[in-house]
Amino acid sequence: MKITDLKCAIIGHNPVVRITTDEGIEGYGQAESPKRYLKPHVLFYRDHVLGRDPTDVERVMSTIRRLGGFKPWGSAVSAIEFALWDIAGKAAGVPVYKLLGGKVRDKVRVYNGAVRPPLEGITPQHYADNMRQMKESPENFSIIKQGVAFHSPMSTEVPDFYYGDHVDARFHPNRGLLTEKGFKHLMACIEATKDVCGDEVGLALDAGPGMMAPDLLRLAKECEPLNLMWIEDALTGDYVPYVLPDVYRDVTMATSTPIHTGEQIYLRQNFKDLIEQKAVNVIGPDPADIGGIAELKWVAEYADLHGILMAPHGTADGLIGLAALVQVCATLPPNYIAFEYPTGNPEWWYDIIDGLPDPIVTDSYIDVWDTPGLGVSFNDKARAYLREEDADFFD
Ligand SMILES: [Mg+2]
Repeated sequence: MKITDLKCAIIGHNPVVRITTDEGIEGYGQAESPKRYLKPHVLFYRDHVLGRDPTDVERVMSTIRRLGGFKPWGSAVSAIEFALWDIAGKAAGVPVYKLLGGKVRDKVRVYNGAVRPPLEGITPQHYADNMRQMKESPENFSIIKQGVAFHSPMSTEVPDFYYGDHVDARFHPNRGLLTEKGFKHLMACIEATKDVCGDEVGLALDAGPGMMAPDLLRLAKECEPLNLMWIEDALTGDYVPYVLPDVYRDVTMATSTPIHTGEQIYLRQNFKDLIEQKAVNVIGPDPADIGGIAELKWVAEYADLHGILMAPHGTADGLIGLAALVQVCATLPPNYIAFEYPTGNPEWWYDIIDGLPDPIVTDSYIDVWDTPGLGVSFNDKARAYLREEDADFFD
C-alpha cells in the first residue's frame, strides 16, 4: 500500500488531516482546536510521506518525527500519526488498540476539563458555583479539573495577586511570586471548590504555568489535607518549550500532594529526565502533541516502571482526537488514571462524525468500540461544513 496524498482542512476550529492510499483506504487525524494556523505545517510533511506504506507506521514516522517540536509544533506530526494508525487498523480489519498490543480494559475513564460553563467571577463563591454546575453534568465525571492561579482569570483580576509585571498576551505568559493576599485568595477558592466536590468527585487543579517553586511547594503542602488528584503544570506546561525537571523534583519530594506536568512535551526523550528523576507523580502528555498515540503508549509504560501515574491531556483534541485517546488509553498499564475528555466544537461536529457511542460518556467512562482503525468516520453532512479553500478535502 502507498500513500497517494496528505491533505489538511480546518473544520470548525480544528486542523484535520486526511491521508489517502492507492488501495482506497483513507485515514484521519486531528490537532487541537486553537491551532488553525497549523495547516501549512501539516502540508510541510506531505512530500516526506508520499509513496510510503502507511501500514508501516513507525517507518513513516521515522521520516518526519525529528521535524517537530514542543507544543504546538508537534501537533502536525501527531495528527499524521493518528491518520497512519487509522489506515493500518482499517487495512488489518482491527481497531487500533489491537495494533498497540491489545486492550487491557473494556471501558476507559475520562476526567472533565472541557465540559464547563464559564466561570462567572473570581470569588470563592464563583468557584463553588462553577464546580456545582460541573458536578451536575450528565457525564457524571468522577474527576474534575479546575483552573486556578495563573491558569485562570484570578491572576489578572485579583488586585495585587502576584509580584510581577503583567504581560498582556495569550497562552499564559505571566509568571511571578504570589503576594500573601494572592495566596490566601487562591486557597479560599480551592477550599470552596473542594467543599462542593466532597469525596464524591476527585479534584485536580491546573495552576499555571507561571508559579514559582516556593509558591507551588506552599500550595501543595497547604492542600495536603484536601487529597487533591494533582496540581498540574504549575511551573511549566501549556506552551512552555522546556521542562525543568530538577525544579519540579524539589517540590515533589517535599509534599504528599501529587505534582503533575507534561501536556506540552514532545517525544519520549523529553520525558526522560522527568521520569528517571521521579520529578513529578503524574504526567499528562497529549497524544496530539507528544508525537502520537504510540509515543504516548511508550512513555506510559516507561512512567509505570518508575512509579509515575498517567492522566493524558486532551481537552481540545476534538472527536477524532477523542477516538485516538480511547484507542491508546484502552492499552495503557495500571498507572493510567483517566484522560481529559475532549468535546466537539462547534456543536455540529457531533452531526458530522459517525462511530461514537451515544451517550459518549456514562458515569465517567467510555466503552471501547471495536470498529477497524480509529473507528470514527465523516458522514455525508461533513462536506457542507468545509471552508471554501478546503472544498476538495474529501475528494
Ligand atoms: Mg493543563
